[in-house]
Amino acid sequence: MFSYWERQSFVNYDHIIIGSGIVGLSTAVELKQRFPTASVLVVERGILPTGASTKNAGFACMGSVTELLDDLETMSEEEVVQLFERRKKGLELLRERLGDDTIGYKTNGSHELISETEINAIEKIEYLNQLLLPVNKKDSFRLCNERIDSYGFNKTHIKALIENTCEGELHTGKMMHALMSYATQLGVEIKTGVTVKEFNEEADKVVVQLKNSLVDEVLPFTCKQLFVCTNAFTKQLLPNEEIMQGRGQVLVTEPIEGLKLKGVFHMDKGYYYFREIEGRVMIGGGRNEAIQKETTSKLGITDTIQNKLEEKLRDIILPGIDYTVAQRWAGIMAFGADKQPLVKQVSDRVYGAFRLGGMGVAMGSYVAKELVTPIPR
Ligand SMILES: Cc1cc2nc3c(=O)[nH]c(=O)nc-3n(C[C@H](O)[C@H](O)[C@H](O)COP(=O)(O)OP(=O)(O)OC[C@H]3O[C@@H](n4cnc5c(N)ncnc54)[C@H](O)[C@@H]3O)c2cc1C
Repeated sequence: MFSYWERQSFVNYDHIIIGSGIVGLSTAVELKQRFPTASVLVVERGILPTGASTKNAGFACMGSVTELLDDLETMSEEEVVQLFERRKKGLELLRERLGDDTIGYKTNGSHELISETEINAIEKIEYLNQLLLPVNKKDSFRLCNERIDSYGFNKTHIKALIENTCEGELHTGKMMHALMSYATQLGVEIKTGVTVKEFNEEADKVVVQLKNSLVDEVLPFTCKQLFVCTNAFTKQLLPNEEIMQGRGQVLVTEPIEGLKLKGVFHMDKGYYYFREIEGRVMIGGGRNEAIQKETTSKLGITDTIQNKLEEKLRDIILPGIDYTVAQRWAGIMAFGADKQPLVKQVSDRVYGAFRLGGMGVAMGSYVAKELVTPIPR
């Protein structure tokens, strides 16, 4: 039940965005930049963003050789290049908007570890370099086996190392915090702990039903245009969208004395990834080891996946080195039949950008621009 004052001053907006992940916040920023006098509200069901954007590993992620070759199994060359370009443009926009120092952006190097069974991939390096040249303007990949020893990897498992010349890393927490500040400075309002239960589109507005947990009631807010940026949770609001949920589990070690590796690393077609952060190793992935169980929206961790992550640490990444796990967590991603994100006008007044896979840090800012740019002034 609204008061007289609430109804006058709090519930009607020009634009409401559902979801405060990187896509929702970037959409709010784009809307404020395009329509400076418009009122823009972001609503988020969690106290913090509660999907992928504050749970990921912070790779400024352009794709590895085996991952891109795998993508070419389900997508055309043109689509793979377009996806690569979206990541590149997204990162450029994110860095330009927030600043490298603010988001902890660094280029400490990016590499893919190649096992015996993947060794044929190195013959495709030149092909991929040529394919991506129009976008990247330089070779994207090169072989650098001489670094296997200097990083301390186990050579029984690792037969080659490929450098990715265009990938960096960032501090996910700093980036998301800075993006929230940037949006609020532009005049965007953000309400957390608020779940959108449903919405109804009418001729002149959209009525968005927000759950107020404190008094167990649902309050109707209105907007002229609604933006659904709920990624893996989109089916609850748009049941016809083709989205598969996928959990990503991560762990980070305590600082390791004399740690040799620096930068970011990929393995197994992108299914595993690890990086150095503040003298620690952060490793994630392994969803492919229990694909059915990991097709879930539950934010828990499992022994199966966590043991696999530790196995990679022990056997390949840190052979003979003692480490202690400091923290473990999970985030939820959204996938489809191919890796293209869905960016669309859903109906007259409803728009959506979702299904960012494991690339939203890279693509999120640009996807939001793609969503907002066609909206007439
Ligand atoms: C473990 C892990 C590692 C990853 N590593 C990388 C990486 O290194 N590099 C990279 O580029 N990408 C990575 N990703 C992918 C990247 O994090 C995502 O693609 C990106 O964060 C998606 O952003 P988003 O805004 O679309 O979705 P989300 O961040 O999931 O945001 C959606 C938001 O909507 C909210 N929401 C949902 N339903 C409702 C509702 N009904 N009412 C209100 N709010 C709602 C959710 O709580 C959530 O906060 C990783 C993801 C995970 C999980």
